[in-house]
Amino acid sequence: MVTKTQQPEVNIGLVGHVDHGKTTLVQALSGSWTDQHSEEMKRGISIRLGYADATFRRCPGMDEPECYTVEEECENGEPSERIRTVSFVDAPGHETLMATMLSGAALMDGAVLVVSATEDVPQAQTEEHLMALDIIGIENVVIAQNKVDLVDRDRAVENYQQIQEFVEGTVAEDAPIVPVSAQQGVNLDLLINAIEDEIPTPERSDSDDARMFVARSFDINRPGTTWGNLSGGVVGGSLVDGTLDVDDEIELRPGREVEEGGQSEWQPITTTVRSLQAGSEMLDTATPGGLLGVGTGLDPSYTKGDALAGQVAGTPGTLPPTRNAFEMDVDLLERVVGGEDEIEEISTGEPLMLTVGTATTVGAVTSAREGECEVSLKRPVCAAEGAKIAINRRVGARWRLIGIGTLAE
Ligand code: GDP
Ligand code: MG
Repeated sequence: MVTKTQQPEVNIGLVGHVDHGKTTLVQALSGSWTDQHSEEMKRGISIRLGYADATFRRCPGMDEPECYTVEEECENGEPSERIRTVSFVDAPGHETLMATMLSGAALMDGAVLVVSATEDVPQAQTEEHLMALDIIGIENVVIAQNKVDLVDRDRAVENYQQIQEFVEGTVAEDAPIVPVSAQQGVNLDLLINAIEDEIPTPERSDSDDARMFVARSFDINRPGTTWGNLSGGVVGGSLVDGTLDVDDEIELRPGREVEEGGQSEWQPITTTVRSLQAGSEMLDTATPGGLLGVGTGLDPSYTKGDALAGQVAGTPGTLPPTRNAFEMDVDLLERVVGGEDEIEEISTGEPLMLTVGTATTVGAVTSAREGECEVSLKRPVCAAEGAKIAINRRVGARWRLIGIGTLAE
């Protein structure tokens, strides 16, 4: 079994407008590690979650920022020293639904906002994603001004100033803006330097009780696998507290919808941890940070097709309650992102799309007053008092972020 020193210790979101270079940047930073073990499981998790690990390294005897690299060998031929492994959560390409970005936001300890120097600032998702970081309270932000290889100096300076103006008054106000070319590998050392300074590994509690947000779940068996060779269902997500060991029992909430006498009810699921995979490694014990694949004893039909995405997993008996309805305190945005329209108060009867942790669910408003409302959910969520909720309202053909809720008791 491999030591756990390579386990990623921090999750960094890659956000920004489509085609601005998020995926290219992740590839440039995650270098060339390859994985020998359990290729299938790794592929399943990384493709579905859109994440990749990068190990930041330092070349001894060199100054900042030139000392930073992702290569194992320095330019002078000396070996580099490992600083830490980080996990990038890359928003899926062409994804416009805020819900996907917001459910990823629950897993992010910081974010890199990628802004292309070739376009005016802000483009639609540049603004929307920054707003989301702002309201979710992700304060550790680095801005990568990408594609500087495609513009001349004047344009690069003008674009840099546009970015500065645009982030004024947001969480990213003091974020460093690093001009890079992800494709040409320019200034990646400066970017790593900025990430090292701005996005520290968060301090975790020393509780033993595991709590994990499930972002994806799947069946890793090939079609036609015979019963005796079936692997149990896999859940992927992030451990946010405690530790998880192989052979531990875990509970998943809300669990499974069970029909009984015409009534349907959600029942927690309990299973055993059969394997743990972080980045490219199989572990005996997993600690918080990075994205984790948990092989379970569950029938893979329970986990296939993201059936358990949005659930919470952890030590049996320690999880927050499953809620079919809840009350929340509401802070509305001043205006719709990217538009001029003022946001109207929430009214009784209207449907809202709510993102709680990694869960996204539609709720009907059963009562509303200024600053608070009660919702009844189509699909229950497992959430603690004080949990942050992204509130989306249907505007025209799509859901728009209108505010943030805090789960009240
Ligand atoms: P994403 O949608 O934000 O993930 O963007 P991608 O990483 O898929 O990049 C979109 C396109 O821009 C691809 O064709 C990339 O090759 C290209 N691209 C990304 N970064 C750079 C860069 O720094 N310079 C240049 N010239 N092209 C880039
Ligand atoms: Mg992409």
